Amino acid sequence: PSSKLPDVGTSIFAVMSALANEHQAINLSQGFPDFNCPDELIALVTRYMQEGFNQYAPMPGMPALRHKISEKTEKVYGYRPDPDQEVTVTSGATEALFAAIAAVVKPGDEVMLLEPCYDSYAPAIRLAGGIPIYVPLAIPDFHIDWDLLKRNISRSTRMIIINTPHNPTGAVMPRSDLQKLASLTDGTDILIMSDEVYEHMVFDGQEHVSALQVEGLRQRAFVISSFGKTYHTTGWKIGYVVAPPALTTELRKMHQFITFCSVTPLQLAIADYMDNEAHYRSLPDFYQAKRDLFCELVKPSRFELIPSAGTYFQLLKYDAISQEHDLDFAKRLTQEIGVASVPVSAFYHNKTDHNYLRFCFAKSEETLRQAAERLVTL
Ligand code: PMP
Ligand code: GLN
Repeated sequence: PSSKLPDVGTSIFAVMSALANEHQAINLSQGFPDFNCPDELIALVTRYMQEGFNQYAPMPGMPALRHKISEKTEKVYGYRPDPDQEVTVTSGATEALFAAIAAVVKPGDEVMLLEPCYDSYAPAIRLAGGIPIYVPLAIPDFHIDWDLLKRNISRSTRMIIINTPHNPTGAVMPRSDLQKLASLTDGTDILIMSDEVYEHMVFDGQEHVSALQVEGLRQRAFVISSFGKTYHTTGWKIGYVVAPPALTTELRKMHQFITFCSVTPLQLAIADYMDNEAHYRSLPDFYQAKRDLFCELVKPSRFELIPSAGTYFQLLKYDAISQEHDLDFAKRLTQEIGVASVPVSAFYHNKTDHNYLRFCFAKSEETLRQAAERLVTL
């Protein structure tokens, strides 16, 4: 059969994790913690399962969880979305992104992506018949080149996708950029999708600015988050979307036919655990300590550290070590020194190589020490 995505292979995250397993390498590639989620969360899931909460959840998400998301959004961002009309629970942020794009992108619509960007955006756009328009972020600090962005807006622009804190670069978007985006889209039909899955991982006293906090953006935005990141449960695949009622209505038309609903006992457990505000309030310090440790350990190496302001990823530039394409280099490091990473070219549609590798530092101190010991030998 002819392929709908002929140029698409297997996602780099699957490729690198498989290679890491094959070579028993330390896996700093795919983003996930190597430590467990809180015991209390596990106990809650077990309790809800035993109590019989093992059937379908309501399509938009368990009411208890949607209420907690609404309350938390108000506490953190000062905006209280209506849990019935503006909050939808999805099977991870991945489903949220796919459903939001499927809901509003029509054949021929253009969707702007700021590269490097997460690998699931473009395939979702193309499957909806849309056309990804790739706008590179400016190297070396990955800020938005506003002239370039403006030049790429056309009458067909349907959506602009942003991601802050940013995977893979760790860049955090300043409030001024979100405000510029609001004025740029004012009076247009352009929608925003704001991928904020790393909202609680921002370092050095900086703050995450959500699209929900910016007048003019909030009214045209799908804001997406994921409990996988916040609660160290990437395997649970529970995420959510906050969007105005009209957009939520369209989103749910897709969600109901993609998965219909997400896992019931997990939603209930997270809803209870969300009362523990200290958990997400302490995440910046928790991950900053890991970033600092990893950076300190890698400093004596020949890698150049690119400052990570957020997420649980650190970029290392390796042009003092090798001129290989980053995919080849990442594979060789996995095989030869036993440390797996993600080549940043995987986040560019034409696989542009800038000699960066992405390392996930959501790992125990021991794992980070072992990995760094190997990296300094290069
Ligand atoms: N967006 C970004 C930027 C991500 O890094 C990830 C997870 N790696 C996702 C979306 C998907 O999140 P989930 O695992 O909840 O589907
Ligand atoms: N978001 C994770 C990362 O960037 C991977 C998610 C996935 O494996 N699809 O590493």
